[in-house]
Amino acid sequence: MFAHNKRLQYTVRVSECNPGLANLMLEQFGGPQGELAAACRYFTQALAEDDPGRKDMLMDIATEELSHLEVIGTIVAMLNKGAKGTLAEATEEAAELYRSITGAGNDSHLTQVLYGGGPALINSGGALWNAGYIDSIGDPSADLRSNIAAEARAKIVYERLINLTDDPGVKSALQFLMTREIAHQQSFEKALYSMTPNFPPGKLPGDPHFANVYFNMSQGEGDMRGSWNSDENFTYVTDRDEQCAVDGGDGYAEVGLTAEEQAAVEDLAARTVSDPDIDPTTGVELGSGEVR
Ligand code: MN
Ligand code: MN
Repeated sequence: MFAHNKRLQYTVRVSECNPGLANLMLEQFGGPQGELAAACRYFTQALAEDDPGRKDMLMDIATEELSHLEVIGTIVAMLNKGAKGTLAEATEEAAELYRSITGAGNDSHLTQVLYGGGPALINSGGALWNAGYIDSIGDPSADLRSNIAAEARAKIVYERLINLTDDPGVKSALQFLMTREIAHQQSFEKALYSMTPNFPPGKLPGDPHFANVYFNMSQGEGDMRGSWNSDENFTYVTDRDEQCAVDGGDGYAEVGLTAEEQAAVEDLAARTVSDPDIDPTTGVELGSGEVR
């Protein structure tokens, strides 16, 4: 079950209303790296998780992300509060009102006119939140890696938002939210490495012929060697012939067909064969002017 506490996880103090800034904050409310996506990501993973430690951690973090959603949503609501009031009560001249809701030059009018100044489940560009933001696959070694990356991305978006405001209260709440994503990233990394082995993901091992091979497929000036393709860690294959048909076959595709299928395929090929010996006049030529 869930229980709600009326006190926020972090106190939200907004010095003055700013609908344009509110709109930017929506990125972490209804955007791909936002708190709703994070909460849903960990909550749905927790429901299916059978490992007691991971299940507990995922529920703890999912619930904290909902608390973050509440903090960032409250910031949006506070930043919009003044404009919301003046728009609803029409206390200003139309032109002045128009200026106040579009002041920051982004889509802040959309938040006001369409969503009444409330935190809408959209990103800062107005795109609707969608479950496609969550890429869980139901395997802990894959999902934890994705969670680590999700926390890294959320941290980066917060960092950018922090750089966009000089309101000390907003900055401080964003710094808290950003810092918590650092903490979550650490927990997910610890959880990943608490499971041994955790690589490769899943159960099936890779084919040892190819698991530690590096194909130098892009060749020319700029070829570079490092630990990611070093001879200590990989067999480095640069010869073009050795990059083809690595299974030892001829590299040409084949398929078994029934006699009936074979006949149909041949009929189709005969009906659609290209004639390299003709030069047909086409619509492009019929409609083209004389080249001078
Ligand atoms: Mn969060
Ligand atoms: Mn997080």
